[in-house]
Amino acid sequence: MKDIASGIPRIAPAGRKFTGTDRRAPLRGGLQGCGEYGAGQTAGRFYPIACVALEVTQRCNLDCTLCYLSDRAEMTYDPPLSVLFARLATIHSHYGPGVSVQLTGGDPTLRKIEDLEALCREIHRLGMRSCLMTNGVRANRAFLTRLAAAGLDDVAFHVDMTQERKDFHCEADLNIVRRAYIRHARGLGLRILFNTTVFEGNFADLPTLAQFFRDRPEVAFVSFQMQADTGRGVLRARPDAITQDSVMRAVEKGYGTTLHFDTAAVGHSKCNRYASVLTAGGRAVSVLSNPRLAQRVMAALERVDRSTEGHLIIRDSAQRMALRNPLLALRAGVHLAGRVLRLGAGLLRGPLRRQSVFIHNFMAADALEEDRCASCVFMVATANGPLSMCVHNAQRDMHLASPDRIDTPSGPSWWNAAVPRLSSGPDLPDLNDPNLAPLKRLKGQMRAMRQNRKDAS
Ligand code: SF4
Repeated sequence: MKDIASGIPRIAPAGRKFTGTDRRAPLRGGLQGCGEYGAGQTAGRFYPIACVALEVTQRCNLDCTLCYLSDRAEMTYDPPLSVLFARLATIHSHYGPGVSVQLTGGDPTLRKIEDLEALCREIHRLGMRSCLMTNGVRANRAFLTRLAAAGLDDVAFHVDMTQERKDFHCEADLNIVRRAYIRHARGLGLRILFNTTVFEGNFADLPTLAQFFRDRPEVAFVSFQMQADTGRGVLRARPDAITQDSVMRAVEKGYGTTLHFDTAAVGHSKCNRYASVLTAGGRAVSVLSNPRLAQRVMAALERVDRSTEGHLIIRDSAQRMALRNPLLALRAGVHLAGRVLRLGAGLLRGPLRRQSVFIHNFMAADALEEDRCASCVFMVATANGPLSMCVHNAQRDMHLASPDRIDTPSGPSWWNAAVPRLSSGPDLPDLNDPNLAPLKRLKGQMRAMRQNRKDAS
């Protein structure tokens, strides 16, 4: 069903508690419904969701030209820890241990570090995995050291030209920032990830940027996220030249090899493309170069369920598969050894590492496709349960205005993001009230509009 005015499908959040027996079933059903549950599909087969974003603040210390926050997002207050803990419990109830929780915002580092430490500890206690999603401006060595000690698993740095950092004129200039961020995080036991928005202003730089990541053995995961017309960003529609295909080819050019993005699927193929790469000393080879073998291994691992056994399950299951099907395990081992040997002289120049490469295709807010929303692998925790990230971004103000109910020993309380503390009732102040939005708290299109109006008067 569509909202006629906005063209946004009315996809409801998935409710507060999951009551079924197989947590993977809803996603599997969504993917089957749109013909995306093939032999190479990993989502809904091994895990119930790829990750869930927990937005701990709507504030940010940058103003990206493709920001997914809404015009009014920064008018709201940060949810208290009791609300965030309740949302973590909901995430755990839906997806079980093993799910990756993204601590995000806005920029989560604008919260007190004690709050982030408490969240990392709680995620760890629930057996889930935590990832700090940050622009890195405040995530210095001391900051990351404290979070790592509190149980943080991953840190994902967002660095690119949409952020308009002062005195940087192209992606290559920004490598100095990326190198510094790697230094802040390395050796702390954190997996290091990088996110890059792909837009007209950096599309030509993609091959050299991909090459930069290929040559960084500390980087475990690289995500390229294609420009989407959603949120408060001022750049809006994606240029025709930026397609999943053109981005895959540009990334392969940088890695210097074919990456076999079609072998394994992570959710809908129009949303995500995934490659697994071995790197050493400035060379790269694709792990998934034999689709038939990869799919036979996946079939042999069919009973793996990360939602009941947590993250280590893949390693444990590989051992179990070796015992149950030694011939297949031997073939897979020979294949891997052959891939490693193809790195040739690179093995003498640097350490052997595996990197995941991801291409993510967010949808425009006024062109959401229902089958993709219904088989989404990236969710956001809302007051009413997990919701597809694309749907959430298209309806952010509506979700920010929806109160959380918190049950306390003295009765229910309500969290409403337009007021600074828990209240005894769910009544909502109007997020459209201009008095809630002093100019200094506005960003993106709304700030530009208000500034123009001020200048003209
Ligand atoms: S967030 Fe959007 S693009 Fe990503 S998987 Fe979900 S529906 Fe697809």
